Amino acid sequence: MTDIFSTEKRSDIMSKIRSKNTKPEVKLRKALFARGFRYRTNDKRLPGTPDIVLRKYGTVIFVNGCFWHHHPDCKIATMPKTNTEFWQSKIKRNRQRDLENYWKLGELGWEVIVVWECELNHAHVEESVADKIAERLHRKLSPTPITYDIPQESEIRIAAEENVEYGK
Ligand SMILES: [Zn+2]
Repeated sequence: MTDIFSTEKRSDIMSKIRSKNTKPEVKLRKALFARGFRYRTNDKRLPGTPDIVLRKYGTVIFVNGCFWHHHPDCKIATMPKTNTEFWQSKIKRNRQRDLENYWKLGELGWEVIVVWECELNHAHVEESVADKIAERLHRKLSPTPITYDIPQESEIRIAAEENVEYGK
């Protein structure tokens, strides 16, 4: 069997599937909203443009498509039978980029929660996922609130140290 589309065309189709296939994320967002959480969505100012940003809780949530983000050992993350090498390297790059973004967010003081699309596949399962997240968020709130600044894109973050003369 050969793919009826060229690689470029397939890539285009796959990316459209990705951008339209936001249902699991919306379900989770609604469930969190119903629990009183307020958030920003798709904040481009943060590494990886997290799907849900809960600033008050210093937490970001990614709702990851299992195929695009390479959910290990996941049934729905199967490789296309054609152009397999192309897809494998593409998905590998996605995965590396994800890990870099999680690391950068951690450096900025954000906690990262990753929810896989397949975890939201069944009806109403988002309610229990939202409960779990809510529990984690409530635990995070300490008596002395910590504020997290969302960095501007152009801002260069440097360690704020006075000019100290060492060895004196
Ligand atoms: Zn999965």
